[in-house]
Amino acid sequence: MNVYRRLLGYSFKYKYRLITGIVLSFFVSILNGASLTSVIPIFNAIGKGGKADFQILLTKKESIAFKDREEGKELEAIQKIEVLVADIKIKTNYYLTTLPKDQLVLLFCLFIFPIYLAKLLFLTGAVYCINSGGYLAVRDLRLELYSKAQELPLNHFVQEKTGIFMSRIVNDVEVLAKLISSDLKDAIVDFFYILTHLLILLILSWEMFVAVLVVVPLIMGPVTSFADRIRKATRNQQERLSALNGHLQEVISGIRVIRAFSMEKTEAGRFWEINNDLSEKTFKGHFYHQIGPSLVELSSSIVAVIFLAFGAYLIELQKLTLGHFMIFFLTLVFLTRPFKQMGMLSNSIQSAVAAGTRVFEMLDSETDVRNSPNPIYPKRLSKELKFDSVGYTYPGAKSPALADLNLSIQKGSTIALVGSSGAGKSTLVDLVPRLIDPTEGSITWDGTDLRNLDIASLRKKISIVNQQVFLFNGSIRENICYGTENVTEERMREVSELAFATDFILSFEDGFDTVVGERGVMLSGGQRQRISIARALLNNPEVLILDEATSALDTESERVVQQALESLYKNRTVIIIAHRLSTVQIADTIFTMEGGKVVESGSHSELIRLDGKYKKLYEMQFAETPV
Ligand code: ADP
Ligand code: MG
Repeated sequence: MNVYRRLLGYSFKYKYRLITGIVLSFFVSILNGASLTSVIPIFNAIGKGGKADFQILLTKKESIAFKDREEGKELEAIQKIEVLVADIKIKTNYYLTTLPKDQLVLLFCLFIFPIYLAKLLFLTGAVYCINSGGYLAVRDLRLELYSKAQELPLNHFVQEKTGIFMSRIVNDVEVLAKLISSDLKDAIVDFFYILTHLLILLILSWEMFVAVLVVVPLIMGPVTSFADRIRKATRNQQERLSALNGHLQEVISGIRVIRAFSMEKTEAGRFWEINNDLSEKTFKGHFYHQIGPSLVELSSSIVAVIFLAFGAYLIELQKLTLGHFMIFFLTLVFLTRPFKQMGMLSNSIQSAVAAGTRVFEMLDSETDVRNSPNPIYPKRLSKELKFDSVGYTYPGAKSPALADLNLSIQKGSTIALVGSSGAGKSTLVDLVPRLIDPTEGSITWDGTDLRNLDIASLRKKISIVNQQVFLFNGSIRENICYGTENVTEERMREVSELAFATDFILSFEDGFDTVVGERGVMLSGGQRQRISIARALLNNPEVLILDEATSALDTESERVVQQALESLYKNRTVIIIAHRLSTVQIADTIFTMEGGKVVESGSHSELIRLDGKYKKLYEMQFAETPV
């Protein structure tokens, strides 16, 4: 129920709509009651044989006042009004007795029509207020989830599949939306409806009402037990659906690998399992959903039969008029709908609680990187970026990816990190723009801990070029300018020239306006890489990080990209991670890493002289390289 309260918290921002909606709903049920009870005279009029003899009764006071006047007594002021009302009533009654039965019925119908019209207006208002409030609340929630996604640990996106994540923002939120808009409206309207109509029943006939209290639980019994099953089935179905989504996503993005390794059969088998499971669970859910209402119908028809018999008995005893009985019965029948709906509502609540639990779980999950409450805006790096006994352990990992790391990167210098795969190089550079924060030790920017700096301004000063370049499905121009504002055409062409990208870009028919396709599929690896270098250049970062930027390229493209990169090194602090050692020899200092630690450092020639790990790596590559 905590979930529901939290969810209502979002609606509470739009409380005036909610309150107006509640008030209107109350009037809707009052008007509905009025329209029902005003039918009583019609039934009574129809019921009698021959002429219609409907009469408006005088109140006791009115009859006394009337009698007093007949007897010629002195009348008080109030009594004069009462006599006036009594006169009108008597005249109306006289008029009514002159009417044939069908005209009398028609007359009553004319009275009921405005009531229905008013009810419609109030209902429209209630629906508008409550539903719009609900959707606004959901809009806020979805936005909050989206922003949360932006600051979740990167790790989250590796561990949890993107499909599942999308299902939170799209499907789960939609379930919640239904609950706090249309379902909430139903609940409020039904609540008042049930309340007022039970009261009407009590006034119409208390004997019958007592009977209702005894028999109605018969309807609710099966409903609640069924609600349980439906909830379970729906939850399973939701979970299976996101599993299917996740699997499809994985298969589609990994299609090359799957084909290359002839894994189609295995993947198809996995898909079969998930798909089969999903259809079983979905069937179950739908089955219960469709059987539920019929079960309720059965129980209510049993109730109806009992009441018909009891009502006939009371009329026989003259404790009830036919009109009262008919309306009692009608009201009772009309009451089954809101009760039924309330039964269904409990299902909605159950599945919304499940969806809400998942949504709020995500909203509540810890963001490991958080902006300091009073962040310092970093100045230009003037001295050094320093790692002080830095350690990092991935969430859930047994051993640390980095341990007791000490290194100093001087402003304007170029350093390189080398070491076998898994040594911790990427982890180390992810720490610099605070994609992750160290779990031990600290990193300082001219002496200020990175954690005290404003994240956005820090990141503006740093560019990372990775092995996997991410391009958005837009034009080359948009991709180069991504993340930098107010770029002139001249400046953009300048950086693409520096990145050795102009030639190939202009070879396309549309030049800079060429659309690159989803994730840049239209371009070769080297071309994508050069676009990302142009992007980094335009951003003009103080610190440039190249994480295996050229590893995925063939020798020829690598040579071109390498040239492009060298124009980036000037006047910058550069961290290069490279697999091919030929590209790191220009570095001022090279750090050799192993098992999350720096084991050697020095210039290329110093490290060769040292005859350690670096020399071994170097010799290994030298042997690999064909002469
Ligand atoms: P390198 O870039 O030197 O190849 P990484 O920094 O990527 O090495 O990885 C260092 C260690 O951290 C490896 O043992 C790797 O398995 C582990 N690791 C990397 N990323 C994650 C992650 N997202 N979750 C858990 N462990 C990770
Ligand atoms: Mg790496």
